[in-house]
Amino acid sequence: MKAIVIGAGPAGCAAAIQLKRFGLDIELIERDRVGGLVQNANLIENYLGFPNGITGERFCELIKEHINKLVIDVIFDEVTNIDFIDNKFIITLTKNTTTSDICIVATGTKPVKLPDEMIAKEANNLIYYEIANLKQQISDCKIAVLGSGDAAFDYAVSLSDRNTVTILMRGENFKAIRTLVNTCKKIKNISLEKNIQLINIIRINEKLLLNCIRNNELVNFEVDYLIVAIGREKNLPEITEEALKSDRLFLIGDVASGKNIRQASIAAGNGIEVAMKVYLANKD
Ligand SMILES: Cc1cc2nc3c(=O)[nH]c(=O)nc-3n(C[C@H](O)[C@H](O)[C@H](O)COP(=O)(O)OP(=O)(O)OC[C@H]3O[C@@H](n4cnc5c(N)ncnc54)[C@H](O)[C@@H]3O)c2cc1C
Repeated sequence: MKAIVIGAGPAGCAAAIQLKRFGLDIELIERDRVGGLVQNANLIENYLGFPNGITGERFCELIKEHINKLVIDVIFDEVTNIDFIDNKFIITLTKNTTTSDICIVATGTKPVKLPDEMIAKEANNLIYYEIANLKQQISDCKIAVLGSGDAAFDYAVSLSDRNTVTILMRGENFKAIRTLVNTCKKIKNISLEKNIQLINIIRINEKLLLNCIRNNELVNFEVDYLIVAIGREKNLPEITEEALKSDRLFLIGDVASGKNIRQASIAAGNGIEVAMKVYLANKD
C-alpha cells in the first residue's frame, strides 16, 4: 500500500510521520521547503509544548529534523494534476508522474493578490506576499504592510527589528487579535495608518510609490518594499472528478479548513487523524 502526501507543511508532515510509523510506503512531495507557511510566523505562541513560544523558522527546522529522523523521502517538485485511473492515483509533477493507492492533499493556501492593473510592471519585484525569505536579506528599509489581520500584524512585528514598518489598513477596525495589535502599538518602529485605499503602485528608481486615498484626499507612501497580507485562499492542484470521488483521497490542513480556523496545530491534528483512518481502513 503506497501513500502519497502532497505538501510538507504541518498537515502533510504530521500525516507522513504517522503513516511512516505504521510502516506504509510513503512519498512526501513538496514544491518549496519543508515546514510550509508557518515559517513566516514571528513567534508561535499557541502550539502545545512550547510555553515560551517558538519562532516559525525554528519550528520548521524541528519539523525537518523529525522528517529526516524517520527517513521520510521528500521529493521536491510541484504536483500539477491528480487523476484516478484503474484504482490508482496518477499524480503528475512538473518533472515526471507517479502513482499511489492513497493520496493525501495538504497544499495549504495561497495569498490573495492585488489586481495586476494596479501595479506598474517594474514594481512587481519589490512586492511580497510572504516574508520568510525577504526577512533574512533586508535591514534599514522602509516597509509598508497592507492588511489588518493576524498575518499583517505578525509580518510587521517580524520586520520591525531591523526596519521601519507602516501598516496600511483599509478601514478603522482591526481584524488581528488584540495581543498582536497591542504588541505592534508598543514597537516604536511600527506606525499605523487607517482608512487607506490603495489606488496604484509605481516604481521610482529603487523605491515604490504607493498612491492612496484617505478620506477623499490623495496620500502617498514611498517605501522600499510592500508586503501584501489581504487574505489567503485555498490552494489546490487540478483534481479530476474521478479522483475527487475516490474515498482514498483526503484533503487536510488549511486547504480543508474554514477561513478563520487555520492553525498549525489543527493542521497537524488533521494529518494524524487522516493517517490513522488510512491505517485502520487498510490494515489486514
Ligand atoms: C504570518 C503567519 C503567522 C502564523 N502564526 C501562527 C501561529 O502562531 N500559530 C498557528 O498555529 N498557526 C499560525 N499560522 C498559520 C499556519 O501557518 C497554518 O495554519 C499552517 O501552516 C497550515 O499548515 P498546512 O500544512 O495545512 O499548510 P501549509 O503550511 O500552507 O503547507 C502547504 C505546503 O504545500 C506545499 N504545496 C502547495 N502546493 C503544492 C503543490 N502543488 N505541489 C507540492 N507542494 C505544494 C507548499 O509549498 C507548502 O509547503 C500563521 C500563518 C502566518 C501566515
